[in-house]
Amino acid sequence: MARSAERPQKKTYLWCDRCRRSYDHDDLAVDGGCPVCGGGVQEMGRVSAIVRGLVANELVASDIRTKHRQLIRMIWTRNGMGERYYRVLGPDLPYNRFEARVTELLCEGAEAGWVRFVFPASPLSEESAYRLEFDDEERFVHELEALFPPKPLPPT
Ligand SMILES: [Zn+2]
Repeated sequence: MARSAERPQKKTYLWCDRCRRSYDHDDLAVDGGCPVCGGGVQEMGRVSAIVRGLVANELVASDIRTKHRQLIRMIWTRNGMGERYYRVLGPDLPYNRFEARVTELLCEGAEAGWVRFVFPASPLSEESAYRLEFDDEERFVHELEALFPPKPLPPT
């Protein structure tokens, strides 16, 4: 998504049709996709965004949950792990969507209990205090393979 350089003040919001809510430009994922689902977002003026939000019954309180997901996304993708998974699995989708799908899977896994995200009590802690722990690593592997089925090898 091209962003205009000659417009320092962003007076627009970004609407995600899948999540049925709007985001600030600052909330966006690095690649410009929706920070929650990784889908495309649509730039729109403040009033249009508010009207759409009202229609969709947008909840302002979901911001902190968005940040929680972003944190989970940062934990599992750091040190190039996201790219490594992407290369190994070779899925037919752009990297940002892949990241969003795996983040969603890990959130479901945390809900179901086969993965745990560990956060330190204080933000002054070492970065290594933020980590993920698998209760069932096999489950993760199976879920990944189900989401991104291995492709047949190309003829040599
Ligand atoms: Zn979305």
